[in-house]
Amino acid sequence: MPGYDVIIIGAGSIGLPTALFLAREKVRVLIIDQLSSHGQGQNKAAIGGVRATHSDPAKIQTCQLSLDVFSRWEDEYGDDLHFRRGGYCFPVYEEEQEWSLKNLLVVQKKFGLNIDWVDARDLVEILPGISEDGLRGGTYSPDDGSVSPLLASSAFYHQALKHGASFRFGEKVIGIEKKPAFGVITVRTDQTTYQAAKVINAAGADAREVGRLMGLDLPVFPDSHEAGVTEPVRPFFRPMVVDIRGCPGSTNFYFYQEEQGHIIFCLTPEPIIPGHNRDSSSAFLPQAARRMIGLFPRLRNLRVRRVWRGLYPMTPDGVPIVDRLDHSDGLYVAVGVCGQGLMLGPGIALNLVSLITTGKPILSQEIFSSYSLGRDYTRPSESLK
Ligand SMILES: Cc1cc2nc3c(=O)[nH]c(=O)nc-3n(C[C@H](O)[C@H](O)[C@H](O)COP(=O)(O)OP(=O)(O)OC[C@H]3O[C@@H](n4cnc5c(N)ncnc54)[C@H](O)[C@@H]3O)c2cc1C
Repeated sequence: MPGYDVIIIGAGSIGLPTALFLAREKVRVLIIDQLSSHGQGQNKAAIGGVRATHSDPAKIQTCQLSLDVFSRWEDEYGDDLHFRRGGYCFPVYEEEQEWSLKNLLVVQKKFGLNIDWVDARDLVEILPGISEDGLRGGTYSPDDGSVSPLLASSAFYHQALKHGASFRFGEKVIGIEKKPAFGVITVRTDQTTYQAAKVINAAGADAREVGRLMGLDLPVFPDSHEAGVTEPVRPFFRPMVVDIRGCPGSTNFYFYQEEQGHIIFCLTPEPIIPGHNRDSSSAFLPQAARRMIGLFPRLRNLRVRRVWRGLYPMTPDGVPIVDRLDHSDGLYVAVGVCGQGLMLGPGIALNLVSLITTGKPILSQEIFSSYSLGRDYTRPSESLK
């Protein structure tokens, strides 16, 4: 009998909740990460947004599960994860975007999302001080929110330990050997070997490299995104604000004010910066400042405290890959979570654990098939990446 039932490669946004939910089911689970502790990959780069407001039904339902996990966490486990339902708001200044967001509302409401179009006057109530010049209104989804990525990863880690999960940090997985006849998979690290019946690739931005060890060519390509946090000011708005207007040098720009008053923001560069580079660029901050002041002129004197850069593990269609490779050899992938791994994490983990323990995901097979490895990646992509 192998030493573990399941080995997870990667103690990040996906691996940590998966470890906890497996351990809760009394599955003997080992998590291996090349870094020195939990959540040190892209998890800690996230700014904390958690929304079910997507256009892909699988992502909508997965994030509804995640929101449920985050919202009940404190009652269930006692830790305050700084979870807050401050909502998400997409302000709109262009006619074309108004129609595209209004069209999306149909799908979003069909899946039970609490989201609506609000006119410009009401939006100003929700976002006091927003530039009203050309403002047409926007969508508002009050049940979405934010959570601290650092507190969440720490909470998942400690609960997983408490429920019997084992962790090995500072070990890089360099080989995966399957012996289907014996139902055993050997995972080789740069220090030793481990054996399990099943192995999950949750290696984030390195998913493609780990995929190669599994004999796969996974379409997961990281690109760089930059973020920052300001000094605190008196709290005056609650939602995550997502500005989807393209500007020279960037596409999306999103930010929110957390409870202590700091504003945390993130910019999507245009063109994208492919690769693994995590060094902050000098181009980012002036662009982010221009966009923030453009939307909220009253923030023009606000000072930035710290900036950082991290990676989105992207797929060609902006939808994750969560799949069992085949029924006999025990290999699973939970990768390509793009710019949404924090919000998708607990929901993907619950589905993966159900897939492993019962053979079926929690979502319907039809909806879950959106995540399949063998899908057509050229179909229309998820528009809210
Ligand atoms: C600036 C920025 C802002 C963001 N904001 C948000 C947000 O507001 N909301 C949101 O939901 N998402 C956000 N994200 C995206 C989110 O951070 C990622 O989608 C998520 O962290 C990816 O999760 P993961 O588990 O796939 O990867 P990770 O969290 O990176 O975990 C993967 C782990 O695998 C380990 N690993 C890789 N290869 C090996 C190996 N060979 N051996 C051992 N270990 C290995 C790595 O060390 C790493 O710890 C943001 C990202 C950035 C960069």
